[in-house]
Amino acid sequence: MAENATANNIDTAKSFPELQPATRVLLGPGPSNVNSRVMRAMAAPVVGHLDPDFVRVMEDIKKLLRAVFQTANEITFPVSGTGSAGMETALMNLLEEGDEVVIGVNGVFGERMADAAGRLGARVHRVEAEWGRVIEPERIEAALKAANQPKLLGIVHAETSTGALQPVATLGAMAHRYGALMLLDAVTSLACVPVEIDRWEVDACYSCTQKGLSAPPGLSPVTFSARALAAVRARKSKCRSWYFDLAMIEKYWGAERVYHHTAPITMNYALYEALRIVTEEGLDARFRRHQENAAALQAGLSALGLEPAAQEGHRLPQLAVVKVPSGIDDAQVRAELLRNFNIEIAGGLGPFKGKVWRIGTLGESSRREHVTLVLGALETILASMGVEVARGAALAAADRAYRQSAGA
Ligand SMILES: *Cc1c(COP(=O)(O)O)cnc(C)c1O
Repeated sequence: MAENATANNIDTAKSFPELQPATRVLLGPGPSNVNSRVMRAMAAPVVGHLDPDFVRVMEDIKKLLRAVFQTANEITFPVSGTGSAGMETALMNLLEEGDEVVIGVNGVFGERMADAAGRLGARVHRVEAEWGRVIEPERIEAALKAANQPKLLGIVHAETSTGALQPVATLGAMAHRYGALMLLDAVTSLACVPVEIDRWEVDACYSCTQKGLSAPPGLSPVTFSARALAAVRARKSKCRSWYFDLAMIEKYWGAERVYHHTAPITMNYALYEALRIVTEEGLDARFRRHQENAAALQAGLSALGLEPAAQEGHRLPQLAVVKVPSGIDDAQVRAELLRNFNIEIAGGLGPFKGKVWRIGTLGESSRREHVTLVLGALETILASMGVEVARGAALAAADRAYRQSAGA
């Protein structure tokens, strides 16, 4: 090909072959495997963002999202962007310069929320806990008490960097006792474990499409309570973001249908189908499936001598985070899993880099055959590296866990 190729003289077929990504077993913390029904929905014709057929899809998505978030909140819709876009939408609209906020930080995603709030000029009170541990409610309450008229309490439900599940059911009422709004990051929890927005008095919550919902990445379902909307309406200053300004987006997703930005039509088809799959299965059955596969995976990992990194009693059923055995090269194991077994798992972030593996069984990826596959693959790879593993013990332990949950 010529040094300075123009679009006219590129040999496309030779230089830029057709896309052929592998079909992987996605057992990282997201994206999770996508159901073929969702991929088929994405092949539906693209229509205009105000087309009556698309407006119907928008209305149905709002209804389905309310069911999955377990809320009656009118303002429940998908922000155009990944999970982090939902986080920015919540913070940008709820916070103003100088507001005091309390944010729980015990991993990467609490850190991210604190960073984003600080960028908006909020005064951030961090409540920290060691990575892998949850934050004790008494410490959160002490921080709310110490803050001067706290505007918001921000908490991560499922901390994807450590595998810890934060107890949050009482935090909404606690925030309200101090006059604060409750913001919940449910990016890795929604559709894997219960997320009960109304019962838990959560005022704002954001999630994503590529984890528990098992659609491709690209949208961030959010929901806002009446109390949150009152705070948005009472702002003294305009929302600092044009793109994420709830007052404008609301006019497009609400009855007025005023153009704001062009909704990603195809991604909304994907979300619609993914939500249909969730409601067909039913939330309780879905949560049970995640529990059963997690119990079997954890039993198998323990049989391989891999210890969980998160606090006992607070481990995510959709993401096992285990310590890398000493002397084992984390990246080499992951590379062999991908190359020889077609399995993606993730390594650690920040202080956990090189120290843990994160094995996700989210949404569509939460299947018995995936649990069996990854346990067999890990056993083979670890044995080849000289780790003493009792051959067959992991699969036997997983099998026992499945029999136990079937009998329960
Ligand atoms: C993945 C994740 C995010 C960020 O979502 P993106 O879709 O990557 O922007 C935020 N919070 C948690 C807990 C996550 O796991």
